[in-house]
Amino acid sequence: MKNVVQLSGGKDSTAMLLMMLERGISVDDIVFCDTGKEFPQMYDHLEKVEKYIGKTITVLNPEKSFDYYFLEHIRTSGDYKGVAGYGWPGHKRRWCTKILKTEPFRKYIGKEKHNLFIGIAADEAHRVKKYKYPLVDWNVTEAEALSYCYKHGFNWNGLYEDFRRVSCYLCPLQRKNDWRILRKKYPDLWNDAMRLDLQSCFKLRDKYSLHDLERRAFAVEDLFIDMFDVA
Ligand code: SF4
Repeated sequence: MKNVVQLSGGKDSTAMLLMMLERGISVDDIVFCDTGKEFPQMYDHLEKVEKYIGKTITVLNPEKSFDYYFLEHIRTSGDYKGVAGYGWPGHKRRWCTKILKTEPFRKYIGKEKHNLFIGIAADEAHRVKKYKYPLVDWNVTEAEALSYCYKHGFNWNGLYEDFRRVSCYLCPLQRKNDWRILRKKYPDLWNDAMRLDLQSCFKLRDKYSLHDLERRAFAVEDLFIDMFDVA
């Protein structure tokens, strides 16, 4: 049965892949599901990993783009039948994971028998389900996974200095502080999220729009910083 690594490109799955190879565990396929909303640094990282391990990463793309599902896809069932676009995903509406990751992977792997390796660290062991989780088996924590990656020369061009978790830059499940950093340090990506926000039929965490957040929290902070010149 072939061994397939699901690589999100973050610290945990990267450390898992490198550790597996280091321990001589065969890796037959490495799969990365591209949501189209990854940080640009993530693509550089994937290239770097490929060079380091001398293997090609299989990149899977969904049938249509994140923007299409967010804005245009006409729903065919449920309370929002006939409405265009799924809008911001939420805890109970994670259409993005299903459509942009799970379905492309299922389609790709088909009926082929495989062992699926997922990079979940030991401190997140409650998330393990039915696949293989070497970091949990080896008791490797998130901090250890990151430090292992750094030691092997992978630094995502500083992304982990800005964010605790690195996933889609517009993930609506991120913390307010992550949005704050995105706005300050990655204005192009923030603007992309704001563009979508204007057209979302849902709010972030069902509470506020990104525009609300900017108006109520960040703009006020900026004003204070300007007035008192504090960083
Ligand atoms: S990181 Fe967030 S936006 Fe991206 S697929 Fe996962 S839940 Fe969706």
